[in-house]
Amino acid sequence: MKYFLHIIILIFSLVYSSHAVEEINLYTSRHYESDKELYKIFEQRYGIKVNYISSKGKVLIERIKSEGEGSPADVLIVVDAGNLWRVEQLGMFQEINSPLIKEALPEYLIGENNMWIALTKRARVIFYNPATTSKKDLHSLDYEDLSELKWKNKIAIRSSNNIYNQSLVASLIHRNGYDSTKIWMKKFIENFARKPQGNDRAQIIAVSKGEAHIAIANSYYIGLMLSGNQGVDQQKAAAKINIHFPNQKNSGTHMNISGAGILRNSPNYKNAVKFLEFLLSPEAQKHIIYNTFEYSVLENVEPHPLIRKFGISFKEDIKSIKKLGKNNARAVRMMDQLKWH
Ligand code: FE
Repeated sequence: MKYFLHIIILIFSLVYSSHAVEEINLYTSRHYESDKELYKIFEQRYGIKVNYISSKGKVLIERIKSEGEGSPADVLIVVDAGNLWRVEQLGMFQEINSPLIKEALPEYLIGENNMWIALTKRARVIFYNPATTSKKDLHSLDYEDLSELKWKNKIAIRSSNNIYNQSLVASLIHRNGYDSTKIWMKKFIENFARKPQGNDRAQIIAVSKGEAHIAIANSYYIGLMLSGNQGVDQQKAAAKINIHFPNQKNSGTHMNISGAGILRNSPNYKNAVKFLEFLLSPEAQKHIIYNTFEYSVLENVEPHPLIRKFGISFKEDIKSIKKLGKNNARAVRMMDQLKWH
């Protein structure tokens, strides 16, 4: 009996002490070393421990689903507005109640009913080599113009199974409608310089080697390459390349985000709110974008100098961001039908 009592006391003290520790459980599809430094700063400042696991967005979403009501996850960070929309539709997020966040972010960077927030922005731009493609050829060039015959065999872009391209197409469907996007896409695919292959950086490299005249890829990759993080070859390749921001006279360049939400069964809701507020502080934002070369969601935090030099005052397509998820299925179907593989 005495032994039994000891066990009860031990269990009680374990449960009690685990409640006494302030913590959050973060599931993140970002996999940057620099993020860990940021969590350390948060831990030291607020006394809240950050337990995190990182994996692909899809894997994390499935994991939270299977964990059900007992899921320990407080915060989920994913890349692409389409993914945030999907998690929201599955009813896995709960409202983020924070006047600070509402104050910090414009409306287009907060999900419906405050279900998610954007943490960083990225532009899907056109990369070119000024030695082979003149700036004049690109003057007021829009994504829509890339179906023209003059771009035959000149465009490098990755396959359609990647969400970056799915979201770009989703934004075109939002803007121009399904039928006219389909007509455009058929000709656009005919203009590919090669069968889609490799990641976004591989497209920029193809342009630097003259295998294509222009590449469509996310803005931050050029910063990563220029920084030398990816090795000397990529640094040299990137040094030859310039950026054109499409659709400046109409909707603006296609923008996407990485973002976060608080999960419905979050056991540490208050700490989760504090963590998100911290990620939106100018200090944390600068830390993030100086390591990832993305754009800050705060207006007064300027991009890294390696990105700044391509220009910062371009027009952004902010209206499509919340439509990307809704149009995703139609975009994927169209890409499959027209064999953008
Ligand atoms: Fe990426």
